[in-house]
Amino acid sequence: MGHCVIAAIKQPLESWEQILSASITDADGLSAHFHIDKTQVEKVISRYPMAINPYYLGLIKKGGDSLYRQAVPDVQEIKDQRGYEDPLNEENLSPVPGLTHKYPDRVLFLVSSRCAMVCRFCNRKRKVGRPSMVTGESIKEGISYIKRTKSIRDVLLSGGDPLLLSDRELFHILSEIRSVPHVEIIRIGTRVPCTLPQRVTPQLVEILRGFHPLYINTHFNHPSEITPEAALACARLADAGIPLGCQTVLLRSVNDNPVIIKELMQKLLFIRVRPYYLFQADLARGTAHFWTPLEKGLKIVEALQGHTSGLCVPHFAVDLPGGGGKVPLLPENIRKTGKNRYMMKNYSGKEFLYPPQDL
Ligand SMILES: *Cc1c(COP(=O)(O)O)cnc(C)c1O
Repeated sequence: MGHCVIAAIKQPLESWEQILSASITDADGLSAHFHIDKTQVEKVISRYPMAINPYYLGLIKKGGDSLYRQAVPDVQEIKDQRGYEDPLNEENLSPVPGLTHKYPDRVLFLVSSRCAMVCRFCNRKRKVGRPSMVTGESIKEGISYIKRTKSIRDVLLSGGDPLLLSDRELFHILSEIRSVPHVEIIRIGTRVPCTLPQRVTPQLVEILRGFHPLYINTHFNHPSEITPEAALACARLADAGIPLGCQTVLLRSVNDNPVIIKELMQKLLFIRVRPYYLFQADLARGTAHFWTPLEKGLKIVEALQGHTSGLCVPHFAVDLPGGGGKVPLLPENIRKTGKNRYMMKNYSGKEFLYPPQDL
């Protein structure tokens, strides 16, 4: 991968809307590509909708691989119903529908109910893909809440995927929020650079660059998702001065191993995306088959820290059920041995006194 490859991508023949409208949404469509049990898939889909667009479908190499598991329904979604409908208690922490105000200075504002792909592990599985999630009315109310709440200095747009709004709708929402004097930064959480990079058109980027300081956190989970198309989308955003972060989710049999995560983080940096969070999967109902033990994430961070650039190391965090918020976790590397005396462990496991004995 490199600039020559990026330059070699031609203008896509189809618009992102066309790619999206060719998404597979039923068992018949899916069975044309994979060997599946149609009855079972239909049962899952009737509870949790499916949408796989042709771009992401094309990245799946074989049934059961890391990308397949993120996109294709699994009967475990309805068989193993452990977990919570609303794992982060977002609804109860919403002063107006679709806006969660949990931390003192920032809010999470859902502005779209659509995604470029329906992820099977979604923590808003209860509502994504359902039309009622975000309405013109809820967006109006959210903007009005932001305007009248002076403590908000950071607005995080999410959904669904905010970049699935039309350029016009997005421009309108961004203009409204940017006009609020106490809002300092705007963030967009989007999986589009990964799941539908064709959406990042030069026109979209022209709109976004008018709203600085604007940050984008995207969401890649596997090195196979870092394609020339994704690299081009990220290059366009980065060239517009938008700092790019990544919020990866740790998922069983998708990416729960240090070799995969290290390769992913290194590839992200190469396309100018700075790893931000590595999340323990939320305890959302219908996603239990993706959960990993907490130690897994700690071990992975241990395998990154010091073994590769510090820029490659995301914060490993749990978003606490019930709305407790995000808690960053680190492997144990410090022990108090006396007054102002500590034993520290470096990345290779070697122990050091701090301050050194002779001081
Ligand atoms: C994750 C989240 C944020 C942003 O948290 P940061 O740690 O600042 O990235 C804000 N509000 C809610 C409700 C969130 O879930």
